[in-house]
Amino acid sequence: MSKMTILEYQEKVDEWVKTYGVRYFSELTNLGILMEEVGEVARIMTRTYGEQSFKEGKSKPDLADELADVLFVAVCIANQTGVDLNAALDKNLEKKRLRDKERHWNNPKLTGKSKNNNPAGDRTKP
Ligand SMILES: [Mg+2]
Repeated sequence: MSKMTILEYQEKVDEWVKTYGVRYFSELTNLGILMEEVGEVARIMTRTYGEQSFKEGKSKPDLADELADVLFVAVCIANQTGVDLNAALDKNLEKKRLRDKERHWNNPKLTGKSKNNNPAGDRTKP
């Protein structure tokens, strides 16, 4: 598989929409579709890593494909609202770097230096 940049992916999605999808769904429709796709990811995650289980006899859904669905719709929204995701991702990572440069290292739940080590992050226990 070829590697592509975020910009290339935005352009490929735009081409796909205009070729096969006729036009973009409205922004609000795409918001709804994004929520649907995030729900599909949540269903897989809760059944793979959480306490829920898949129903017997049903094929196991494909997490990678569902994550790609989430990305596709997010890129549709970016394209139709004029967001340059390359610039936005750079800016967002820099924001996180500045905001979180010490925050997570000072979190005893992450470093294991807590008196009440709770790596599962159970917030019902202090
Ligand atoms: Mg899906």
